[in-house]
Amino acid sequence: MANSKYEYVKSFEVEDKLMPSTWIVLRIDGRHFHQFSDKHEFKKPNDERALKLMNACAEAMFEEFPDLVFSYGVSDEYSFVFKKTTEFYNRRSSKIVSITVSFFTSVYVMKWKDFFPDKDLKSIPSFDARTVCYPSTKIVRDYLAWRQVDCHINNQYNTCFWKLIESGKTKSEAQDRLKGTQTQDKNEILFQLGVNYSDLPAIFRKGSCVFKDKVEEIVKYNENGQPVKRSRNKVITDHCDIIGDEFWKEHASILKD
Ligand code: ATP
Ligand code: ATP
Ligand code: MG
Ligand code: MG
Ligand code: MG
Ligand code: MG
Ligand code: MG
Repeated sequence: MANSKYEYVKSFEVEDKLMPSTWIVLRIDGRHFHQFSDKHEFKKPNDERALKLMNACAEAMFEEFPDLVFSYGVSDEYSFVFKKTTEFYNRRSSKIVSITVSFFTSVYVMKWKDFFPDKDLKSIPSFDARTVCYPSTKIVRDYLAWRQVDCHINNQYNTCFWKLIESGKTKSEAQDRLKGTQTQDKNEILFQLGVNYSDLPAIFRKGSCVFKDKVEEIVKYNENGQPVKRSRNKVITDHCDIIGDEFWKEHASILKD
């Protein structure tokens, strides 16, 4: 295209290329979801359908953006890890952030009715997003552990809080009762209210992991009736512990350099 005299305006754009050879972590978080969840009467403390809608958005992200290797979601947020070597949009942060967050939001709106057939979408959801580069696998794992610990702390608090409300306490009484309590105290409160924390669904306690994994599939049977297998990348959704080593030993290929 021919240059015009206006072309110089391009030179005001700032470079926002992310550091090469680092894991790019993208975190998306719902904007004003406290309000949004009230308006749409999400079940407290955990609306399972809303969590599953978030998971469906994450699964769609994996279908759309092939350089994603892992993601972790809780509440109104989702963190996505891009492979270290990704050249997605030349690693330009604003391109990555804007494309992914608008895609995620559109899927959220498009799939709303699949998860809430009985509820109209009454306001327009929006999400914020940021990228952070992490130079080592250890730090990416610590990042993910940070999010999962947060999930545990919040979920334990919220479960206690809403059980106290159910038992007849006011919001401020429930807050006072929980002030300064440690994990053990909260487990004790729950126990007294007839809840065994470890019996709660894993999606609430652990959050959700969406990732690509190699699976062996039978594609056909040969003339001797023997199965012909092929390994394929499949998008998996699970609610596993990602703080300990076990998951990462079993899925060593996800965060390999
Ligand atoms: P911000 O715009 O700053 O992110 P926010 O209102 O979205 O503000 P967050 O800290 O992101 O605040 O918290 C999200 C809130 O959304 C939670 O506190 C919770 O009330 C609500 N929420 C999100 N997902 C669910 C869910 N699945 N079930 C019940 N409540 C939910
Ligand atoms: P990129 O993802 O790099 O932006 P692109 O395919 O979106 O690639 P653009 O340079 O943004 O390319 O151009 C947008 C294209 O979309 C136009 O070339 C045109 O073909 C099409 N397009 C957009 N709006 C209209 C419209 N209102 N009517 C007809 N065609 C349109
Ligand atoms: Mg936020
Ligand atoms: Mg939010
Ligand atoms: Mg949040
Ligand atoms: Mg254009
Ligand atoms: Mg375009």
